[in-house]
Amino acid sequence: MQSLTRLASLDAQALCASLDQAFLGLVWVDGMGRICHANRFFLDQAVAAANLSDCFPDISSTRWQALLAQSRSPKRHSFHAQLRLAAGGLTSFELQFQAHDSDEAPALTLLALRPMDERSERESVAQLQNQVLEAVAMGRPLPVVMDLLCRRVEALAPDVICSVLAIDEQGRLHPLAAPSLPFSYSNALEGLAIGPATGSCGTAAWRKQAVQVRDIATDPLWAEYKELALAAGLGACWSTPILLDGSRVAATFALYYREAREVAPFHRRMVEACAQLCSVALKHDEHLRQIERLAYFDGVTGLPNRSLFHDRMGQALPVAMLSGSPAALLLLDLDRFKTVNDSFGHAIGDEVLRQVAIRLQACLREADTLARFGGDEFVAWLPGCSGTQAMQVADKLLAALEPALLLPNQAPLLMSASIGISCFPEDGQDPEQLLKDADIAMYEAKRAGRNCARFFLPAMNQALDERVALEGALRLAMSTQALRLHYQPKLRLRDGAVVGAEALLRWTDPQRGPVPPDRFIPVAEECGLVNALDAWVLEAACEQLAAWREQGVSIRAVSVNVSPTRFQQDDVAAHVASLLGRHGLRPEQLTLEVTERLLLDHDPRTAGQLAKLFAMGVRLSLDDFGTGYSSLGYLKRLPVSELKLDRSFVRDLETDADDRALASAVLGIGRALGLAVVAEGVETEGQRQILIELGCEEAQGYCFGRPMPPDELLDWLAARR
Ligand code: C2E
Ligand code: CA
Ligand code: CA
Repeated sequence: MQSLTRLASLDAQALCASLDQAFLGLVWVDGMGRICHANRFFLDQAVAAANLSDCFPDISSTRWQALLAQSRSPKRHSFHAQLRLAAGGLTSFELQFQAHDSDEAPALTLLALRPMDERSERESVAQLQNQVLEAVAMGRPLPVVMDLLCRRVEALAPDVICSVLAIDEQGRLHPLAAPSLPFSYSNALEGLAIGPATGSCGTAAWRKQAVQVRDIATDPLWAEYKELALAAGLGACWSTPILLDGSRVAATFALYYREAREVAPFHRRMVEACAQLCSVALKHDEHLRQIERLAYFDGVTGLPNRSLFHDRMGQALPVAMLSGSPAALLLLDLDRFKTVNDSFGHAIGDEVLRQVAIRLQACLREADTLARFGGDEFVAWLPGCSGTQAMQVADKLLAALEPALLLPNQAPLLMSASIGISCFPEDGQDPEQLLKDADIAMYEAKRAGRNCARFFLPAMNQALDERVALEGALRLAMSTQALRLHYQPKLRLRDGAVVGAEALLRWTDPQRGPVPPDRFIPVAEECGLVNALDAWVLEAACEQLAAWREQGVSIRAVSVNVSPTRFQQDDVAAHVASLLGRHGLRPEQLTLEVTERLLLDHDPRTAGQLAKLFAMGVRLSLDDFGTGYSSLGYLKRLPVSELKLDRSFVRDLETDADDRALASAVLGIGRALGLAVVAEGVETEGQRQILIELGCEEAQGYCFGRPMPPDELLDWLAARR
């Protein structure tokens, strides 16, 4: 073999003659795509023209210039284009040229043209297929494979722009690859719904048929999107849907042209091959995902499995740690599930697990994670959940399992579960520790007779048991009229006149002795007893006030505490109205004390009740003011007549300048809004003096009188005179 440099020593004439005789077109062009020389073969075949773009109508002159300018890397370019023939018509050629390894563009570039036959076409498509399949086999991610596919097609056919769009189950488009389309264009397609007239791709996916649009500017399918496409320099678009499993459209493969035109026959054949490649790649990707799902999800219930659960906790714990928020882990084990499996078989066992999973999931919030750890063990991770809330969730889960399960061809089946609870951060700071603790607690629950929940910390179980016992005792006390009301006088600071009395509940349990309301009111609120309790207090207090009036006692008004929950469930306003009527009391003689917690209640019923009471003339007092969520905005909206300055601000008035400032601020708010301010828990003469100086008008506290039974209150009144 002799190289061309050796040939150079030959007679130049002889060289030209042999080039002319080659069965291969040779064209020398300058950087602008102007034809400078050509051999006989080319001149015989091609239409007479001065520019490449005239010979190859599919490739514009700017595109040629761009191709020829790619001279930085010494790469061989090889692509296909349609040559306009001297005899008329077009025929396919494979073009090759070598870019030069020099900083300067070469003066002339030599292009070699080989007539395309079926074989060479097949070869280049086969090469493309091999490259893409190799990428699939190597496990490259789907977008990378699709990007490669587009780039390969664009390299073979420099006059096309390729794009692949994925289509999700809801029929929305998601760009997968479009290396030569402007990002803004692809971005605009994201999330677009397919439809009967949504460009070429959306329509092709909708019809499940290829859609060829010769002119985007005029085709009705593009009416809504043509501005977008024209701005991106796109003139025609041919889109082919990629069907999986015979009927499901998973993607579209599209060729764009820069000008309005027909699809070239070679492009058609290339797209057939690409459509196949796309479906292979998409199928492969679905497969991978399925494998991934099997690795992370339980096959029976579809819930996350142990590995995914650990993953999620691994992410959640550091967040909880940083934000200082609590969390709880619930481990739930079905009671006697083994018997079900043994006596009914695994198919029924699996069905039980599926139904249980659905019921459990329905009790949880979106932020919670429910997982199945295999066997009959379920685990729930509850971010932001305190111990008390976790126990409430556990109760909900147990209640959800109570109704019998309905199974095919079986009698209804009763299932229960035992739940162990561990709390973050008290019981552990890492997943293993929390799971271990929950497991211990779960065995506690089994030992305690199943169908119940237990905390890991024994102290919490004790607290729980005590709560349950307290609830029972309170129910008994209510039914045996063992509750009493004490009254604490409310005084005008200026002259010490008694302006009213606050009714406070007292309960002395035979075993426990006196139980303070701070302990039993929260229990009553939780178990729903508080409505009955508060209703009873209200009746008893009104009755007492009426009795005092009969006896000529100088107490003209009572204050009664009402729990926020009561406003959601009872018609407090109607109850109050009937009581006032029955006892012949004037509305302003009754003050209802509500806490700031009520302000958080956005229930329209609550607001309605308060408005009704206010309209009746009943006074509303905001208890424990300053300890909670006090927002001046709320204050303006709520129809209150009085603020009770919380005990905690009064306690250190004599020693703490901050508390003095706060008390003074609350008094200022009261004055500004025209509300009476009552200081609570005044115990010393010093506190009384300061309150007077700050302009406080009314007060309660041991300094004047403790809460007392009614007869003692009469003695107290008599002693003052
Ligand atoms: P509260 O409404 O803020 O009641 C004032 C509490 O301060 C009462 O406690 C009272 O005994 C206490 N107290 C009064 N003067 C002084 C003082 O000078 N120094 C100190 N250290 N304490 C003083 P009690 O009776 O234990 O009630 C506690 C809470 O229980 C009440 O706080 C109220 O929120 C709730 N409560 C009491 N009775 C009822 C009721 O009938 N229904 C409802 N829903 N809650 C009630
Ligand atoms: Ca109160
Ligand atoms: Ca209070």
